[in-house]
Amino acid sequence: MDVTSFGIDHNRLLRGIYVSRKDTVGDGVLTTFDVRMKEPNREMVMDTSVMHTIEHLMATFFRGHDQWADKTIYVGPMGCRTGMYVIFKGDLESKDVAPIMADAYRYMAEFTGEIPAAKAEMCGNYLDHNLEITKIECRKFLEEVLEQIKEENMVYPRQQG
Ligand SMILES: [Zn+2]
Repeated sequence: MDVTSFGIDHNRLLRGIYVSRKDTVGDGVLTTFDVRMKEPNREMVMDTSVMHTIEHLMATFFRGHDQWADKTIYVGPMGCRTGMYVIFKGDLESKDVAPIMADAYRYMAEFTGEIPAAKAEMCGNYLDHNLEITKIECRKFLEEVLEQIKEENMVYPRQQG
């Protein structure tokens, strides 16, 4: 049961939460989500320092969550810097994770204090963070996309022909 991300039309891909793939591992299914914060090739990408801070904050949010901690396998940045990959245990759809993802982005938008694990002994590039711009980016994605998420923000546009 694999949903391939090959064949997505990036020219028409919007911001949103998409199912990138599903993998059967043992008796269970892992669902990889494409949390797309920027329209590919049409919007400025995020700075690497912002992607890095989102990685730390989002991982902290999910790994500390009483219902989602056990389901959270992985949180990581996309190399193209337009979004994040999040892998959860379970056969899930975008609508199943839209509310918790909005909570995660609200947590990041409102975060104050020290960035978790941003210390030399815990991080491979601990000086490369930017909390203030991260909060702006997370609020923008929350308000413009997640709080009014529509079908076109949850279903990949496919390449024609
Ligand atoms: Zn780090």
